[in-house]
Amino acid sequence: MHRRTVLQAGAALGLVALSPQLFAAGKLKPGGKAALIVVDVQNCFLEGGTLAVKGGNEVIPVINALAPSFENIVVTQDWHTAGHASFASTYSGKKPFETTKLNYGTQVLWPDHCVQGTEDAALGKELKVPTAQLIIRKGFHKEMDSYSAFEEADHKTATGLAGYLKARGIKTVFVTGLATDFCVAWTAMDARKAGFDAYVIEDATRGIDLNGSLAAAWKQMASKGVKRIQSSDIG
Ligand SMILES: [Zn+2]
Repeated sequence: MHRRTVLQAGAALGLVALSPQLFAAGKLKPGGKAALIVVDVQNCFLEGGTLAVKGGNEVIPVINALAPSFENIVVTQDWHTAGHASFASTYSGKKPFETTKLNYGTQVLWPDHCVQGTEDAALGKELKVPTAQLIIRKGFHKEMDSYSAFEEADHKTATGLAGYLKARGIKTVFVTGLATDFCVAWTAMDARKAGFDAYVIEDATRGIDLNGSLAAAWKQMASKGVKRIQSSDIG
């Protein structure tokens, strides 16, 4: 192959931008300046939950196996009020998975899920990340959703996660959890916006895929410089 073809092929795979230090010996070594972010591995999104993601439980053993490779782990919890603005039941005549316009933009309406303090909102029992240092809750403002662990849906209100990571010298985040095309994607893209290198570990996520949202999310993430890898890339 010509060099240009090789470079193009590399770029398509997202390889050119990989930092050589991180990618030594063909495996990514997260080290002290990286954090694993475990997004919303909660009963609500797992089998039997109020907004179960297909195959959601399958991410748990993958995340549990990744955890020992990370010095820094942050866990997130979707944490809604009753009658939350993202619930279809809040609006008369609306059904789950329809959309509505709120003052910050289009909002997908969901079944009631992850209500604060309920068993449905608890972290999955099989999830084993004992070294996690921070649990960040999001979506707790009644009038506003928050898919992202960094910013609420108005793209202005900060959760404080960027400040926390920066204060601890963290430069790179590896995002896992549920769901790929909503909270994982928004978290990874907002990590880029906040100046972090961001990877999504694909086999440690599962998507909801509402009207093609999964493919659209991968495309959008790639355009923001989010790198797509597999758990086997980390060693
Ligand atoms: Zn939610």
